[in-house]
Amino acid sequence: MVNRRRRKADRLSLTSMLGAGQLLAAVAALVMAGVVLLVYQVLSLHNALNSETRVQAAIVADNLAAPLMFRDRDAAADTLRALRSAPYFQWVAVYDQGGLLFAHYGVNGQLPVAERKSLDWLHSAQEAAPIQYRGKPLGKVVLVHGTGGIREAMAHYLGLLVLASLGALLLAQLLARRTRARVVAAERELDYLAHTDQVTALPNRRASYGLLEEAIAERGADGGQLALLLIDLDNFKAVNDAAGHAAGDDLLRQVAGVLRAVVNGSGTVGRIGGDEFAIVAPSVAGRAQARALADQVTAALRSPFQVGGSELFATASVGMCLFPDDGLSMGELVSNADTALYHAKHTGRNRLAEFQPAMTVQTQRRATLERDLRRALGSGELAVHYQPQFDCATETMVGAEALLRWHHAEHGFVSPAEFIPVAEDSGLIVALGRWVLERACADAVAWQRHGEQPVSVAVNVSARQLRERGFLDEVVGALRASGLPAALLELELTESVLMEDVESAVQFMRDARALGVRLSIDDFGTGYSSLAYLQSFPINQLKIDRSFLQSLPGEGSTIVSAVISLAQDFQLTVVAEGVEHRQQLEWLKRAGCTYAQGYLLGKPMPVAALLEVMAEGRKSRTYRGAADAPHRV
Ligand code: C2E
Ligand code: CA
Ligand code: CA
Repeated sequence: MVNRRRRKADRLSLTSMLGAGQLLAAVAALVMAGVVLLVYQVLSLHNALNSETRVQAAIVADNLAAPLMFRDRDAAADTLRALRSAPYFQWVAVYDQGGLLFAHYGVNGQLPVAERKSLDWLHSAQEAAPIQYRGKPLGKVVLVHGTGGIREAMAHYLGLLVLASLGALLLAQLLARRTRARVVAAERELDYLAHTDQVTALPNRRASYGLLEEAIAERGADGGQLALLLIDLDNFKAVNDAAGHAAGDDLLRQVAGVLRAVVNGSGTVGRIGGDEFAIVAPSVAGRAQARALADQVTAALRSPFQVGGSELFATASVGMCLFPDDGLSMGELVSNADTALYHAKHTGRNRLAEFQPAMTVQTQRRATLERDLRRALGSGELAVHYQPQFDCATETMVGAEALLRWHHAEHGFVSPAEFIPVAEDSGLIVALGRWVLERACADAVAWQRHGEQPVSVAVNVSARQLRERGFLDEVVGALRASGLPAALLELELTESVLMEDVESAVQFMRDARALGVRLSIDDFGTGYSSLAYLQSFPINQLKIDRSFLQSLPGEGSTIVSAVISLAQDFQLTVVAEGVEHRQQLEWLKRAGCTYAQGYLLGKPMPVAALLEVMAEGRKSRTYRGAADAPHRV
């Protein structure tokens, strides 16, 4: 703020300095022009006076020829007196041929002075004309005109010039001041536009970072602490896509209002990106106070917003760091708050993450993973493993879930829980997913020869893949290339994937079902837990999330039996995931669960191992004589 004010003051004084300089230049120009005009005027008036004096002297000389010839001084005096009413007349003198004064006349009795040299041309104009009679010289007449009139005219002229110049200067000054005011207003407007976000009227990215820099300088000087919070809305893109940009803008404005209210003057809120906000709390007592502020932010954003007549949730992930503990420069603080935000987003969203140095290591690891994952696709480090799924009642294998495995050349086995999110963020999941789909279809065709009845394959589909326009074509292509009947392919979609863009998701599901492909909802119960969509989504199956199985039998029973009976109402089959104990399986059987999958029955394994399991199953069933073995399709 201080810097900005200082910059503005510099600019203002510069504007006024420029104004003063221009004024001085204008005064100098006016003075020069005035002097030139004045000199020109004086010279031309003088010339006119000289000519007039010359003409009058000649006339007087003509009229004096007779009086001088007859030495008639009275007649000469009469002739000379006639000059008294001539405008510039001062004195006149008549000399005879011998140079003696014959007659003279002067205003106010002025006497003739010696000849020209002693006369100042500025004060008078003097002319001598010879007196002749028929070519014979008789003497001369000397006539002197005063320049008082010229000086008087010049004084008036100068007065007028000064007045006009002053008027012009005043006018120029007035215009300059008005222009300056307009320039200052335009500068202020530009300054506002350059530092303000147009949607929320909050400081924009540039201004927010500027404020952060100033706060860092102040705390650096007084040894205090400050907090930087980066806030990212969790599902703004979905709102924007589903409800339109106007609704998105409305939501952003409301969020801005909420953040401002939370900060309530103890800091500044800025919008630094599409759905990213920053709060700079320029003075905090310590980590606890900063954390309290961040908690208030996440809590405030958990309340629903009214946008376009409907209720929307705009939960946010928050990354926080402190000066000087987590960074000393603006770049370091922003980068560390960003790392913390990234962490908050990838550990479940709708939460606060405080920066810790270990996070940077994790971020670097993610970057390395992304780079290596790009290579892995072509280097043979990837494989698809299959986890068998069993019919609960008969414990016969009915299908297998394809799960991607990455054996990194240096780091060894990397968990999908770690690399799948990296692949999703970088978009690599599209290529990886296609590869898994093709591999799984081809493997499933091969294993049909080993089972007694058809065994389906389930493939996980990520949000990013579903958003790709050509995804359905990829499914058709994989089926065609492998020759797998569509009914043996199952796609696992998660609730959040479907809720992102309900309309296109429903369209995709209809098209996939029309092909004959089965659809199931993965990790059921962990997402929206909204049961209303079960009616509108054309699905075949629910997969109850592993977390509910952990507390089975026991407190999880209520939820799991509710899901099973709900699924029955909607004519959906149910897969229980993560079955690890025999009691769980027994309980599921009693509850009427359709299928089970978990370590108890089989871990994810390479296709060769799965074929063995299938062969084993055949052997044991042959032994048990399972003629009426169930099948899924
Ligand atoms: P998921 O789709 O829920 O897959 C089931 C996960 O639970 C697998 O982890 C599986 O190994 C694990 N699991 C199965 N039975 C048990 C059990 O009894 N106990 C325990 N504790 N875990 C069990 P995995 O293979 O590590 O995969 C993790 C997640 O990665 C998957 O969760 C899925 O979301 C994702 N994923 C894996 N492969 C792919 C893929 O090809 N495409 C996509 N889009 N996602 C994949
Ligand atoms: Ca799955
Ligand atoms: Ca699952």
